[in-house]
Amino acid sequence: MEASNCIFCQIIAGTTPASIVYHDEQVTAFKDTHPVTPVHLLVVPNRHLDSLNQASEADEQLLGHLLLVARQLAVENGIDQRGFRLMLNTGREGGQSVFHLHIHLFGGAHLRFNFAVLPR
Ligand code: AMP
Repeated sequence: MEASNCIFCQIIAGTTPASIVYHDEQVTAFKDTHPVTPVHLLVVPNRHLDSLNQASEADEQLLGHLLLVARQLAVENGIDQRGFRLMLNTGREGGQSVFHLHIHLFGGAHLRFNFAVLPR
């Protein structure tokens, strides 16, 4: 089901342009418009879920599929053996800015474990 104001639903529906790198019945992946690493893709479910908070046990297979597609994209981008990072921001304090569940795939650079903590 498409959420009318959701930019990622519009990308999945083909009404907003994006650099789509993968699509199947359940998920779509496309390039992030503001990449922070040489490889920066977003893997999203085709069905609108605001965030991981909205997922239920019925979504177990879908969530697993998202991870496996992200791993496949890491392979296709030649970063699976070098290493890559997946990130799933949830809610405002988790850094989520687009409220359609998505997994970031980062790679092509040596990533440190660091992140900014913003004032509330
Ligand atoms: P998050 O902060 O985890 O919600 O990440 C949202 C990501 O979506 C950010 O990295 C944005 O750069 C990216 N983004 C926002 N709009 C678009 C768009 N139209 N196409 C591709 N990426 C987008």
